[in-house]
Amino acid sequence: MDRVYNFAAGPACLPLEVLLKAQKELTSYGSSGMSVMEMSHRSKDFQEIIDNAEAVLQKIMHVPEDYRILFLQGGASTQFAMIPLNLMKEHKKAHFVNTGAWSKKAIAEAKRYGEANVVASSEDKTFSYIPDLSADMFTPDADYVHITGNNTIYGTRYTKLPETNGLPLVSDMSSYILSEPVNVSDYGLIYAGAQKNIGPAGVTVVIIRNDLIGSAMDITPAMLNYKTHTEKGSMFNTPPTFAIYVAGLVFEWIDKNGGIPAIHKVNEEKAKLLYDYLDGSKLFKPTAAKKDRSLMNVTFVTGDPDMDAKFVSEAAKQGLVTLKGHRSVGGMRASIYNAMPLEGVKKLVAFMKQFERENA
Ligand code: PMP
Repeated sequence: MDRVYNFAAGPACLPLEVLLKAQKELTSYGSSGMSVMEMSHRSKDFQEIIDNAEAVLQKIMHVPEDYRILFLQGGASTQFAMIPLNLMKEHKKAHFVNTGAWSKKAIAEAKRYGEANVVASSEDKTFSYIPDLSADMFTPDADYVHITGNNTIYGTRYTKLPETNGLPLVSDMSSYILSEPVNVSDYGLIYAGAQKNIGPAGVTVVIIRNDLIGSAMDITPAMLNYKTHTEKGSMFNTPPTFAIYVAGLVFEWIDKNGGIPAIHKVNEEKAKLLYDYLDGSKLFKPTAAKKDRSLMNVTFVTGDPDMDAKFVSEAAKQGLVTLKGHRSVGGMRASIYNAMPLEGVKKLVAFMKQFERENA
């Protein structure tokens, strides 16, 4: 069967070039005579794979010297607990901005270990916007500030970072890492599950500033202590070897294609195509506040759940799949991560126009 344009929120589409390279190397990697899946994580070949993945990620994100890159397991959801366990070192308190279901989960986990102070929320309008934030909200009696930089379910993102009065800023970058240039030194810690913009599910990238490592609470399990993993080069135990290998291929793909600034330009072009059409449409309405629109997850509705279902079903027949919105908000969501080609978005917009003509 031909490949479809897959607009899934994650796991999501991967660059075809990467899949083909992985396919080519699937049964025998290099001169090893075995698949990466069959290889000891202590082998020279795998050590090169993980070192290379780290080096290319460091290069494309311009990760400064005083940060460490980790390849961990447990998804972004494990970070919801790992971050408070490691970073609530002095005040046992953190500030949170509640911009949706993933923020809420981060807040709920942090509450097990200390105080999770919610400074602002956009729950009053179904998380369709990013609340206004001011420096005075971030009182110095906390250890860090946590934000969800892009809200996968609602299609919102921060277009400017909060002023945190010097408190380390932590961002859940699961659904926008590598999609736009970020200044890593603006953050104390960055984390992202891989299954959107990095690679296959199973690996979680953490980028952490050195001074935040080594002060975990006594109760912290070894596997949830950043120090355990920085000391062992992400190989305290068996890492998700194949996922790390594919992530490395994705980092190389970004590097080869002009790096994050070039990818970002295409991402802006893709998002503009969709939003411009949605803004002029009589049938579809975009749901996120214009100022806070995500470049990665574009959410929209017709206002009629039956019409939404018809659209999703007819789009699928055209090879435009997984456009159904998250079950908690309904409607539609087109996730247009780095690997979604411009061509896919053009085809989607053309289909939406046709659907509108036939159904408005
Ligand atoms: N944070 C965000 C912003 C997400 O979109 C998701 C998953 N879609 C998660 C966290 C949870 O990630 P995981 O499934 O890797 O735990």
